[in-house]
Amino acid sequence: MKVVVVGCTHAGTFAVKQILSDYKDAEVTVFERNSEISFLSCGIALYLGGQVKDPQGLFYSSPEELKGLGATIKSGHNVKTIDPKEHILEVENLTTHEVTTEHYDKLVMTTGSWPIVPNIPGIKSDKVMLCKNWTHAQELFERVPKVKKIAVIGAGYIGAELVEAYSLKGHEVSLIDAQTRVMPKYFDAAFTDRIEADFKSHGVQLELGQSVQKFVEKDDVIEIETDKKTITADLAILCIGFRPNTGLLAGKVAMTPNGAIITDDYMRSSEPDILAAGDSAAVHYNPTGKNAYIPLATNAVRQGILVGKNLKKPTVRYIGTQSTSGLSLYGTAICATGLTAEAAKLQGIDAEQVIFEDNYRPEFMPSTTPILMSLVYDAATKRILGGALMSKYDISQSANLLSLCIQNKNTIDDLAMVDMLFQPTFDRPFNYLNLLGQAAQAQAAKKESTATLA
Ligand SMILES: Cc1cc2nc3c(=O)[nH]c(=O)nc-3n(C[C@H](O)[C@H](O)[C@H](O)COP(=O)(O)OP(=O)(O)OC[C@H]3O[C@@H](n4cnc5c(N)ncnc54)[C@H](O)[C@@H]3O)c2cc1C
Repeated sequence: MKVVVVGCTHAGTFAVKQILSDYKDAEVTVFERNSEISFLSCGIALYLGGQVKDPQGLFYSSPEELKGLGATIKSGHNVKTIDPKEHILEVENLTTHEVTTEHYDKLVMTTGSWPIVPNIPGIKSDKVMLCKNWTHAQELFERVPKVKKIAVIGAGYIGAELVEAYSLKGHEVSLIDAQTRVMPKYFDAAFTDRIEADFKSHGVQLELGQSVQKFVEKDDVIEIETDKKTITADLAILCIGFRPNTGLLAGKVAMTPNGAIITDDYMRSSEPDILAAGDSAAVHYNPTGKNAYIPLATNAVRQGILVGKNLKKPTVRYIGTQSTSGLSLYGTAICATGLTAEAAKLQGIDAEQVIFEDNYRPEFMPSTTPILMSLVYDAATKRILGGALMSKYDISQSANLLSLCIQNKNTIDDLAMVDMLFQPTFDRPFNYLNLLGQAAQAQAAKKESTATLA
């Protein structure tokens, strides 16, 4: 069985390892444009901020490792065309420019995503930088420390992490976004109000609710013209989102409107011999039960493994995702899973939200710290649809527990009473997540009694 893997960062690396472990007859060839594989982009801001000392640690695999496992690795090779009917592809060797034709029995499409670069005048300036892969990372490492003023465009996770790192390194930082709140996809206003206050207290200039219209290079700086004002910086970094890198299969397999490959529960595209995983593919989003585009490494590695397991026949079903994610800003952990109240509303779901704040452990302990929490639940069934936590205390594993609640269709009643350990070092007689569930129950009961009275 000849297997061709196109693209080898996270989804590709995990797929290759799984295929080589599960199928002894597989002849695996990997085509990758870059010379390196498995780069953890999430480490870029950590390196810039000084927490990661050696960027080489951001690679967890190598072409040599995959070769040792039995794969043929063709790095520096760009796949130019794919013909699903004939099972062939054209590949260019980027050093010699020689183009060859390759045959496959099974094709793994792990071509990932690319930053969205809108067609705005001046955006091609070399003072407008991207932040996605190892090449971008090296450019950021090299150029940014030499300048003072940085403008980050896009207040999602990646923009927020860059802004934190640069503000702590003493740069003057502006954060520009068309939305009126930072990270609005992940957090409701109770959270983003505090995040924004933290940015401001670290000297970050928040330029929200304004969209960039034009970039103009002037002397040594770049002027960013928004619909409200002109912001001047030495360098601008564009992080406004990602698009699936799937042009090779456009019109050839079923895709979502933004070009993510739609797969079945076994990662097979509408062409049965083409499987897809990672940022090139849609995910099954459990809180809504629909397909969605959620480019995260968490999804890429899981789907990569599933591609391997399901390569020949349906074997292990994809269980979908809650899009659980988190970050740390100025020492505060901020994590979310599932739907925000705002997102539920946009989806037309009749959802309720409870916001609850409490110290994570009793006040008689030498120290304790507050946790801000949110729970979003279906108004009729009380099923948990989303949650968020924010604290100086590490609450990341609690976000993972809420993720499991959503996955398993648990209700606020389950969360209120589920067995959780008690010991004052860690929590109160009821863990803070139990208390969050109980706050939701109290809110729901109040609403029901008000409705009955009316
Ligand atoms: C700055 C940053 C921080 C992030 N932080 C997090 C985080 O903390 N947690 C998290 O879960 N996710 C995070 N992500 C998202 C995560 O990095 C992506 O979801 C992940 O990289 C997707 O992996 P992938 O293998 O599907 O695709 P990609 O990483 O996009 O890799 C696709 C690969 O395919 C290759 N390729 C594409 N087309 C071709 C072709 N025609 N021929 C040959 N090769 C090709 C590309 O060169 C590339 O190597 C972050 C992303 C960024 C940019």
